[in-house]
Amino acid sequence: MSVAIIGAGMAGVTCARKLADNGITPVIFEKSRGLGGRLATRRVDSLRFDHGAQFVTARRDEFRQYLDQHAVPWWPDGAGEWFVGTPAMNALIKPMSEGLNIRLGEQVTPQRTNAGWKIGDEYFDHVISTVPVTQARMLFPELTTALTEVLVTPCWTLMIAFAAPPDWPDMWRSRETDIAWIAKNASKPERDAGQDCWVAHASAHWSETHLEVDKDIAKEHLIDLIRSMRGELPEVTYAAAHRWRYALTTTPLGQPYIHSSDQTLLVGGDWCLGARVEDAWESGRAMASALF
Ligand SMILES: Cc1cc2nc3c(=O)[nH]c(=O)nc-3n(C[C@H](O)[C@H](O)[C@H](O)COP(=O)(O)OP(=O)(O)OC[C@H]3O[C@@H](n4cnc5c(N)ncnc54)[C@H](O)[C@@H]3O)c2cc1C
Repeated sequence: MSVAIIGAGMAGVTCARKLADNGITPVIFEKSRGLGGRLATRRVDSLRFDHGAQFVTARRDEFRQYLDQHAVPWWPDGAGEWFVGTPAMNALIKPMSEGLNIRLGEQVTPQRTNAGWKIGDEYFDHVISTVPVTQARMLFPELTTALTEVLVTPCWTLMIAFAAPPDWPDMWRSRETDIAWIAKNASKPERDAGQDCWVAHASAHWSETHLEVDKDIAKEHLIDLIRSMRGELPEVTYAAAHRWRYALTTTPLGQPYIHSSDQTLLVGGDWCLGARVEDAWESGRAMASALF
């Protein structure tokens, strides 16, 4: 059985690992240059920013056991049982990726043919997609109707570094303000404590209403918002904004994946079950189990 997986985030790599452990060797196609998807870290010279998922939590015992092996606790200000990858968030999936056939930098559009699913010059019996739902609707129009109810929100992210540390708590969050989250990257374990790098996420509402603004304008807006909440800032040595168009699920599918009528196409990802890394893990595992 030949299987192509689209996406090397938590869902895709989890799925591939489980298939490989059960004798099926998939090929993963990932459009980015690295693993992780939204488990992302931006590197700029010596600066590091976890600018996607900030931390991971576990509801299921099995995922908790996985985190106990591959993540370390980060509980700023006595927050709940939060875990992070070290030294970057995508370390959460790197152990699973060992030995897998992962093709980075390959954005694919599978075509259904009489000989199977065609990707480039290759044919596969099955395609497993883990791309965000909006992209899944575009890649697989046959499933668009079934995916109509799923909703996701964007998130504007600010990465900012200072010459001197501001007098802020390591982590601050609110549901009431336009800035929903600010955290000091180096307060996470095994980050360079000498770097004063911070990550801020705008609220879903602010991100939606400013979705199409230019990145540099978004950056200035976000800095102004932080200034209005926190007062004058230390000298800024680096700042950039990142637009996550499909950041967080607000209405999930309600089942771990969906398949085409002939069952050769499985489509999943975090958005099937929720907005969290654990949901991606669960979806990936469920899709693998469907094939053996
Ligand atoms: C700003 C932000 C903050 C978050 N905070 C948290 C948090 O604190 N805790 C938490 O648990 N979760 C958080 N999340 C959500 C978490 O990141 C996701 O639930 C999880 O990483 C999703 O994994 P996934 O594998 O389903 O999708 P993704 O990680 O999105 O992986 C999909 C992959 O598919 C690739 N791809 C897309 N199209 C193609 C194509 N045509 N060809 C090839 N490759 C393609 C993409 O490049 C990507 O790598 C956050 C997300 C964001 C954006």
